[in-house]
Amino acid sequence: MAGELRFRWELGGAGWASCRIADGTGEYRGHVGYGTDALADLLYAVTGLYGGASEQRVSFDLEPMELRWLFRRRESDVSIDVYEFPDGATSWGSPDETGGTLAWSSSPPRGALGHAVREAAGTVLREHGEDGYREKWMLHPFPVAALQDLRRLHQRDDGCRHESCRGDSGG
Ligand SMILES: [Zn+2]
Repeated sequence: MAGELRFRWELGGAGWASCRIADGTGEYRGHVGYGTDALADLLYAVTGLYGGASEQRVSFDLEPMELRWLFRRRESDVSIDVYEFPDGATSWGSPDETGGTLAWSSSPPRGALGHAVREAAGTVLREHGEDGYREKWMLHPFPVAALQDLRRLHQRDDGCRHESCRGDSGG
């Protein structure tokens, strides 16, 4: 039984972010490079789990490592497997089974995943704003639309009662 799921995304210096995910039993931390639109890709992947997708993959560029997230729907839960591939230049797009090392895994309820990711992305936007984000992530703007989609679907399908998930503040 997975405990509370926690996810954080913190912009570091220009072009990288530190990412941390943890449940009651373990955590994973990595430094993600801006070679991909990593936070947006993650938001789209999690959002996809509210539609027809039963499986979603996202790869982060950890320079030179590839960090690959595999999300699989299991009824109301999502199994998350995080794989490290030592050489991203050759592993990108390869099968999960070959060459990757399972670095972290958990099976939280989908609502816990959606909530944690939404909250982390919302915190980034609050702390940096769209302009500040663009300055640090350089190649990519903050994924406003993806965050709005996730918030809407998470609230609609998970019925989250948390204040920060119930649309715009002020109500
Ligand atoms: Zn929520």
